Amino acid sequence: MIKRILLLRGTEILCLLLLASIPFAIDNAYVLGLLTLLTIYGILLIGLDVTVGYLGQVNLAQAAFLGLGAYAGALSVSLLGLDMLGALGVSMLTGLLLGALLAFPALRLEGPQFALATLSFSALSTTVLNEWESLTGGAQGLSLTRPALFGHAFNAPGFYWLCLILLALVWMAMRNLLASQWGRAFEALRDSPIATDAMGVSTFRHKVAGFAFGSSLGGLAGGLYAFNFQYLQPQSFTYDLMVILLLGVVLGGRKSLWGAFFGAALIVLLPNLLSNRLLFELISATGLLLAIIAGGRGWLKKTTPAFQALAPIIAMSLLVTGGYLVENTENWRKAIFALMLFAVVVGLPDGIMGFAARYLTRLFRIAPATLAKPSNLTDVLPLSPSDDQVLLELKNLTRYFGGVKAVDGISMSIQKGHVHGLIGPNGSGKSTAVNVISGLYAPTSGEILLLGHPLPHGSLFKVARSGVSRTFQNLQLFGELSALNNVMLALKDAYRIPLPMVMLGLAKKEDHRAQADALALLNLVGLKEQANVHARDLTYGAQRFLEIARALACKPELLILDEPAAGLAHPDAAKLVLIIKAIRQRGITTILIEHHMNIVSELCDVVTVIDGGRVIAQGTANEVKRDPIVIQAYLGVADDEPVIASS
Ligand code: ADP
Ligand code: MG
Repeated sequence: MIKRILLLRGTEILCLLLLASIPFAIDNAYVLGLLTLLTIYGILLIGLDVTVGYLGQVNLAQAAFLGLGAYAGALSVSLLGLDMLGALGVSMLTGLLLGALLAFPALRLEGPQFALATLSFSALSTTVLNEWESLTGGAQGLSLTRPALFGHAFNAPGFYWLCLILLALVWMAMRNLLASQWGRAFEALRDSPIATDAMGVSTFRHKVAGFAFGSSLGGLAGGLYAFNFQYLQPQSFTYDLMVILLLGVVLGGRKSLWGAFFGAALIVLLPNLLSNRLLFELISATGLLLAIIAGGRGWLKKTTPAFQALAPIIAMSLLVTGGYLVENTENWRKAIFALMLFAVVVGLPDGIMGFAARYLTRLFRIAPATLAKPSNLTDVLPLSPSDDQVLLELKNLTRYFGGVKAVDGISMSIQKGHVHGLIGPNGSGKSTAVNVISGLYAPTSGEILLLGHPLPHGSLFKVARSGVSRTFQNLQLFGELSALNNVMLALKDAYRIPLPMVMLGLAKKEDHRAQADALALLNLVGLKEQANVHARDLTYGAQRFLEIARALACKPELLILDEPAAGLAHPDAAKLVLIIKAIRQRGITTILIEHHMNIVSELCDVVTVIDGGRVIAQGTANEVKRDPIVIQAYLGVADDEPVIASS
């Protein structure tokens, strides 16, 4: 265990010790200033990476949170007389609260609109800092003295060590967070927000919490920034800084703590890089060489398209020649940043750390941790006794898309414990019906009752929480997550430990138990051996089965399978039948949309046939098969003729 930790965390521990010992070795105020700034930017960029990397949103507000945190910390010292700990707490809280306040409206927006909302927030906050002169001193700036901690005043090295300790704590908290259900949720909501909600994990809540957390780190960094420089001006936190911060995250590498650290180092070193001619030429020449080697190799091996190989080479050549032609590189700051950013975005989309990580993982192969022993399936999915209760009732349900009456007044009830078939020609409204039940679409009118209680309308998340789980006609797996993590994400009632404790690393036991439960479900669908395989690397059949295991992890009252056999070859189709039989044995009610009549006949207790958004027949598979109205409906659509014949 200790060996494993040292192996995995060795570099981190070594790096920390090295950084901590530098003030002993070098007595240089300038170097110490750079190191302090490195730790502050490290915290800031880890926070920014939560939104930009993990949530995949362009966040232009982090510089503003740095400023707000800085002023909040400074003012809580000068006005309230708080000490270091209290003031940093206020800084962090300011980031957290304002972050949450911004996130609630902004995260309902997508992509460019979200970016614009964060940009407006930045503009607003710098204006307030500028104009509220009685409090902030406006453009004149605000001077402050560094507060003490428990009566202990900080000298420069002492303050650096404090910053370093805080960076280490933030680093560990992030590690723990990412290793928990939160980390899985962040990955999942980028892959498929629809499936995340449908598994009862609220995309919106996780986004808001993630954004607020990232902003709180911005606030904390702000507090440290204030006590480092002891002088604040609103102009320091404007758009210019934001571009540099984004450059840091992208250059360092998104979704990586090391990436944030390298990004911070780059930001701190860039001004020096530009003022030192020799260094600048050295770095730009190295950049060019790297671009030629990496691009040329990829191009020769045909793994990199010509543009992707060539563009960074051209950008870096411009930088090298520019270095000779231009008198003062500092005047060309923005152009230089732009060229570097362009070269990295095109040539190294995963950033420097992403690029390095690929080689490092080849060097240090660390075996994956051994998996837990699967739980007993009955502990995960208790056998529920079947009775004659009606589980789901639809009353005159409709859903129109403009003029298309996709579901046009469906009334039916589904008995507890049944496998209830839903069949009908293509376009008859089957998927729309289950999309309305599961909350993907709100109904146009009508009622949906689960055990007599109305189901929430138009919210996948709320319906999932009420006990309805589903698979999708077009697979919606979390491709970047392993099979095991796909199931663990959806596991209901498994994660109860609150966020602060998760960050302290106290959720490991809970996670281990969840893993055991998820393995039992993977075992049910025959995928236990592939637990660590990325979902996108599984065979098509295995992906279908994984989606069923994931839906079962929600421990549903009602399971909806939308054409699970579509595209399956015969052996897999036979396996599917066995899986659904096993699910039925556990007393779980299933709605099965299916085209293959032999599968329907083998599995379904009752079959409802719909056509044109209306129920045209209901009964056992044998009854509906012979129903002339049903035969007419299928014969009317030439494409579906062979299906009914295949029975
Ligand atoms: P099925 O699953 O039975 O093949 P669907 O429920 O997918 O049928 O489709 C029923 C009808 O509703 C089709 O005419 C389809 O074009 C239409 N439809 C389904 N979803 C949408 C949507 N999101 N927007 C507009 N029309 C839709
Ligand atoms: Mg369909």
